[in-house]
Amino acid sequence: MACEDSKKEKFATRIINQRFNKKDVHGAISMPVYRSAAFEFADADSIAAAFQYKEEIASHTYTRITNPSVENLERKIKAASSAENVQMVASGMAAISNTFLAIAYAGANIVTSPHLFGNTFSFFKFTLAAFGVEVRFVNTDNIEEVASAIDDNTCAFFCELITNPHLEIADLPEISKLLKSRGVPMIVDTTIVPWCGFDAREAGVDLEVVSTTKYVSGGATSIGGAILDYGTFDWKNNKRLNDVAKTDSMSQFTFKLKREIARNLGAAIDPEVAYLQSLGMESLQVRFERMSESAYKLAQFLERQEQVVKVGYTKLSSSPYKAVSDKLFTGNPGAMLTFSLKDKAACYSFMNQLQIIRRATNLFDNKTLIIHPESTIYGTFSKEMKQVMGIEDNLLRLSVGLEDIEDLQNDIKQALYSLK
Ligand SMILES: *Cc1c(COP(=O)(O)O)cnc(C)c1O
Repeated sequence: MACEDSKKEKFATRIINQRFNKKDVHGAISMPVYRSAAFEFADADSIAAAFQYKEEIASHTYTRITNPSVENLERKIKAASSAENVQMVASGMAAISNTFLAIAYAGANIVTSPHLFGNTFSFFKFTLAAFGVEVRFVNTDNIEEVASAIDDNTCAFFCELITNPHLEIADLPEISKLLKSRGVPMIVDTTIVPWCGFDAREAGVDLEVVSTTKYVSGGATSIGGAILDYGTFDWKNNKRLNDVAKTDSMSQFTFKLKREIARNLGAAIDPEVAYLQSLGMESLQVRFERMSESAYKLAQFLERQEQVVKVGYTKLSSSPYKAVSDKLFTGNPGAMLTFSLKDKAACYSFMNQLQIIRRATNLFDNKTLIIHPESTIYGTFSKEMKQVMGIEDNLLRLSVGLEDIEDLQNDIKQALYSLK
C-alpha cells in the first residue's frame, strides 16, 4: 500500500514543495517562526470577519487558536498524508486526549486493546473513567471479540498501529469492514510508522493520532502531536456530534475539535516547535528509511546471537504478524524492535555495558536508544496491571537511529559478550 499512487508528486517532493498560505513579505524560503501571541488587523470590520471565518484565506488572530508557523506544519502533514484536516497540538498525549474529549460522553465506551502506550492506557482507564466513559479491552486479533464488545454507545474503536512493546498488529482492513457495518469510527495511533510507510486511508482509518515528538520532530528536538481527519466517517450517530454543524470544509469532528475542544483545552503547539518539526517533515522519508533498514538488519543480527532468547520485529518470519505487516507497510515496519535476554539482571547488565547506544526513553531519535520497559515506562503500574498489559521483565526495547550499522552491531556484541 503506497501513498504515492494517488497524487501527482512523490512523497518527499510534496512536503518540500508545499508553499505557504500567504506569500512572505521578504520571500523567506523557510516559514519563519511567528513568535507572537496575537495578530493585528487594519480595521474593525476585518477583525470581525476573521473571528467569523468570513475571509477568503483565513488569517490568524491568537496563537492558542492558530499561528502561521503551526499552519505551515499542518499543511506539510496534509501533503504527506491524504487527510482532509490536520490539527497540531502540544504532544502526542494532547492529540489523544483532545480527540477523545471531542467524541466521548458519559455513558459512552471505547473498544481497544489493553496493549497501549502507558499514558494512553492510564488516560482511558483513569482519566476518562472519572467522566463516565468506559473502556472495553479486547484482543484485537479476535474479530468476534471486537464485534461483541461494540454496542450503541461505542464512540470509537482505538488501537496502535504496532503495539509497543508487544509488536502486535491489528488487521485494520478486516476490522474496518466490521466497524463500517456497525457505524463505529476507527481511530489509530500511527506514531510507529509515518505516512511514507503506511497509508491510513487505504487501511480504513477514520482519524489518526500521532506523536510528532518521534519521527516528525527530526531527531527528538521537541514535543508535539497531530490529529488527522480523513473525512471518511459519518458522525451523525455519535450522540455528542450529531447536532454539530457540518461544513463543506470540515467534518463535524474537526469542526468540534477546532472550534471548541482544542482551544478550550489550550494544548497549543509552540510556533518554535512547529518550525523545528516542519524541518523534520522535510527529511522524514530519508531518516525513516535508513533507520528502518538498520532496524531490520539489527533484528536479523540479534536472532543469530546465542544470548538472545527472542527478537521482536514484525518483518521477521518468526513474527506471527508478518503477513499483516507485509500487507500494511510499504517497506520495513519502522525503527523499533524488541529482544529478550535470560532475565531482568541480564537486561540491566547488558544495558550498563553499552558504549554507543544510549539508555533513554523515547523513540525514533537520530541516536539509538535502549530501555527496559518493565522497570521504567510501566514502573509505576501494579503487578496485576503489568500482567493485564502483558509486560515482561526480561524484555528490552531498542529504537534504532542513524549511526553506522556496523558500530551498532559491535556495541551490542561487546555488551552481550560481557554477559558470559
Ligand atoms: C510517545 C508516544 C505517545 C505520546 O506522545 P507524547 O508526544 O510523548 O505525548 C503516544 N503514542 C505512542 C505510540 C507513542 O510512542
